[in-house]
Amino acid sequence: MSGFPENTLDYDVAIVGAGPAGAACALALRRSGLRVALLDKAQFPRDKVCGDAVPGQAFKALRQLDPAFVEQLWQLQPRDDVRDSRLVAPSGAGLTLQWKLPSFNSPRETFDAALLELVRQHSATEILENTGLKTLSIAPGHARLTTTDGREITAGLVIGCDGANSVVGRKLLPAPLDRAHHCAGVRAYYENVAGASSGTTEFFLSSDYLAGYVWLFPVGGGRCNVGLGMLSEIVSAHKVDLKETLARVLATHPELAGRFAGARQLGPIVGFGLPLGGGRTRPISGSRFMLCGDAASLIDPLQGHGIDTAIQSGILAGAQAAACFEQQDFSAGFMRQYDAQVEHKIGRKLAKSYRLMRFLSNKAWLVNAAVGLARVPGLRAWVQKAIG
Ligand SMILES: Cc1cc2nc3c(=O)[nH]c(=O)nc-3n(C[C@H](O)[C@H](O)[C@H](O)COP(=O)(O)OP(=O)(O)OC[C@H]3O[C@@H](n4cnc5c(N)ncnc54)[C@H](O)[C@@H]3O)c2cc1C
Repeated sequence: MSGFPENTLDYDVAIVGAGPAGAACALALRRSGLRVALLDKAQFPRDKVCGDAVPGQAFKALRQLDPAFVEQLWQLQPRDDVRDSRLVAPSGAGLTLQWKLPSFNSPRETFDAALLELVRQHSATEILENTGLKTLSIAPGHARLTTTDGREITAGLVIGCDGANSVVGRKLLPAPLDRAHHCAGVRAYYENVAGASSGTTEFFLSSDYLAGYVWLFPVGGGRCNVGLGMLSEIVSAHKVDLKETLARVLATHPELAGRFAGARQLGPIVGFGLPLGGGRTRPISGSRFMLCGDAASLIDPLQGHGIDTAIQSGILAGAQAAACFEQQDFSAGFMRQYDAQVEHKIGRKLAKSYRLMRFLSNKAWLVNAAVGLARVPGLRAWVQKAIG
């Protein structure tokens, strides 16, 4: 299948992006015997705009690779171990839900550097920081990459883990921005937020921003990650300035205004995009390439988490890459196995989440009613299951 002598290529696999998807993919390939490069345009530790809540499913996926990885991550500082979530309905009524899977919040600057450290310690991956992907083409028998520092790299397979503005995706599977399946989010760090309780993540819904929410997540060290996410369709239609809206909500919301009166903002409010999953199924692979995580639009549309699906898809791509080399088959047809796995293990759940998010997005009364219902012990489990 190759048509190009593979031992003359620089690498068997080039993973672009060393966030959760790329790091997980490199970890999944650690025993494959393949020559793997992991490129990132940044030098770690690096910041990533996020709510910093690492979902329990992320640890579950990493545990399946090696339980020691999770134990090592659980030593991280700063972090805040999450026991429960408090949901505040537009009516102001609150509901606390307990989570079964252990999870924690930790600034992405810390968490992503720790994931990359796992790659460094447990694999022979060549980590190339300060190395941005500039151009990419698929030639017969190999992928050819050029980097921002002027290098040319050849590889048998390229895996795009380069996030929401993926260069790999833009070059190989260009698609226009679909605002109905895209969220815009902003966040800032604060200290001294009154009533911020270690172990509890808080979500504030309002009829002003129903296709989204304000979050308040303790991240350890007395700091909270506070942000607002909203469906891009609504941001664009109503010309919402998210930074201004977050600042206004924190100053005027009946509960939050009091709690933020003595709080100190640490650094600016910054924003980034969230490509949501659950939309029309489109390919996320082709001849000699796959996309993972945000590059493949795998963020949960209801809750906005994507670290878990980035890690899950990175692991699936690692397994598919190993199969490609075993079978010496890098064709688009063979790669579809990866798309099918992602759809089966991640996509179907995201489609359900998307339908629920759309259904609730203009029904404040229903959210109020659901929070009220969930206070009835027998109905709580049902509401918790619907939220995920
Ligand atoms: C405001 C906001 C809040 C969020 N809150 C949460 C949350 O609380 N919990 C949660 O689970 N998810 C959250 N998410 C989603 C989460 O951040 C992403 O789903 C997750 O980071 C996806 O991981 P990834 O590895 O696919 O991409 P990323 O984490 O974005 O990593 C991509 C990597 O690729 C590198 N890169 C980019 N371009 C290039 C290039 N050209 N060449 C080389 N390298 C490149 C980047 O430097 C980066 O290191 C939030 C997102 C936003 C925007």
